[in-house]
Amino acid sequence: MLAQPDQLPAWSPGTLEIHHLSTGRGNCTFTIAPDGSTLMIDAGAQMPTAEQLPYFVPAYPDTSRRPGEWMARYTQRHLARAGRKEIDQLFLTHFHSDHMGEYKSDLPQSKLGNYKLTGITDIAESIRIGKIVDRGYPNYDYPAPVNDPGTRNYRSFIESVSKRNTVVEAFRPGSASQLGPRAKIENYEVRNVVANGQLWTGKGEEFKATFPDVKTLKPADYPSENMCSGGIRIRYGAFDYFHGGDLCDGSNYGNPAWRNIETAAAKVVGPVDVALASHHGYIDSTGPDVVRALRPRAFIIHAWDSAHPTMPALHNMLSQELYQGPRDIFSTAMKAEARIAIKRLNQLKASLGHIVIRVAPGGASYEVLITSNADESDRVTARFGPYVSA
Ligand SMILES: [Zn+2]
Repeated sequence: MLAQPDQLPAWSPGTLEIHHLSTGRGNCTFTIAPDGSTLMIDAGAQMPTAEQLPYFVPAYPDTSRRPGEWMARYTQRHLARAGRKEIDQLFLTHFHSDHMGEYKSDLPQSKLGNYKLTGITDIAESIRIGKIVDRGYPNYDYPAPVNDPGTRNYRSFIESVSKRNTVVEAFRPGSASQLGPRAKIENYEVRNVVANGQLWTGKGEEFKATFPDVKTLKPADYPSENMCSGGIRIRYGAFDYFHGGDLCDGSNYGNPAWRNIETAAAKVVGPVDVALASHHGYIDSTGPDVVRALRPRAFIIHAWDSAHPTMPALHNMLSQELYQGPRDIFSTAMKAEARIAIKRLNQLKASLGHIVIRVAPGGASYEVLITSNADESDRVTARFGPYVSA
């Protein structure tokens, strides 16, 4: 049966799909590789307090379930489209609640281990995950021990899941196999670009440390959690996609250049077709040198706050001085008030819904589809492209 025009087309072997889920509560990217291998990047779940709520976009589809439950249901539907049941790999970019799930003492307890259900753990409660890769395993002590309640909950989960049937590994910078498909696919690669400031050099699987030895730094000068964020590049034929988690430019106001890890990573990656705006397009990210290096045809903003994106980041993304030619910007959500504060947000192509990039077999072209986040219909609300991969 032919798909209705407003239905997401069936996934078929050879197609790469990159889904940016819109829950309004954090980042979650789910990819189906050309062979049906599945990779999830982050599964955030913020739980705003009454004071924080006015700054948040709405929760999507609604608050009747936890964000992690909505993400799990979304993932199950799309695993089924590819005839799959498992997430082969989950890559957690860094240890913040909008990427792994926020901890609250009144959250339900897992039936599988001694931890609460939020974000990633909510997903793992109903979907088996083959491998988890993060920046801290097994000691979680760079640049200093990570020990907030959210990370403790995550570590309890890791301890439990690693005794069941999930492999857990530390992110290997430079690797082109750690997060790749189950078996090698012609012209398809998932490249580990950076984590903990350890940056791929662009040659083979070589990497170098860009942060100074923490022993030489005062604790106040340690790299921040966002600076330690992991980033990967997905390449399929001529198509390139960069996801840099919450990498940021910490070199503002005269700080040392090594703190600008976002720019260093963007320069190694070089021009891409689609880039996720790092750190949600916040004030300390998506700087001029990043935009100049990546020069994407499409930017994706994973938004949950009124400052996603900020004005400087948006101006950079739209700038014809940083690079010439057309570019389309898509956001998973937007605070209504932000449009009044930042008039140029009207230039976004779409600002509400799941953003699905569908790369054609071989990688020569791709489309951007927006699907409804109001319900679980996966109804296509807008369609852009096809774009030719550069
Ligand atoms: Zn974030």
